[in-house]
Amino acid sequence: MQDTIFHRIQRGEIPAQLVYEDAHLFAFRDIAPQAPVHVLFVPKRDYATLNDVPEEDAVVVGRLATAAARYAKAQGFAEDGYRIVMNCNGDGGQTVFQIHLHLLAGAPLGRFGTPG
Ligand code: 5GP
Repeated sequence: MQDTIFHRIQRGEIPAQLVYEDAHLFAFRDIAPQAPVHVLFVPKRDYATLNDVPEEDAVVVGRLATAAARYAKAQGFAEDGYRIVMNCNGDGGQTVFQIHLHLLAGAPLGRFGTPG
């Protein structure tokens, strides 16, 4: 799998605003936020896209979602609500090929997925 900008952030080679890290994943603010809160949750296990995650590693994806929910609760916006998104490949708008989960919050987010 290719080295990505997220691997470089994980190694501390480029700066990022880290908000969470544990043995399995790390999370940092998106450089181009699409909502008042926009945090990326990235596993420490490498998969280029969601298509590459085998069933036996479903926990890798599950941990991203539960870490996002914990963060939302800790930051006090869980009850107001939030959105989690994983983009996959071209039509999904994926630009960094190490799987990651977007957490978007801080305002009503409207609908999504309308063809441009
Ligand atoms: P994707 O489009 O692959 O689902 O999401 C990649 C995300 O990574 C984008 O929202 C983009 O703004 C963010 N991103 C790309 N490069 C950097 C960077 O160097 N630092 C941070 N913090 N975010 C980045």
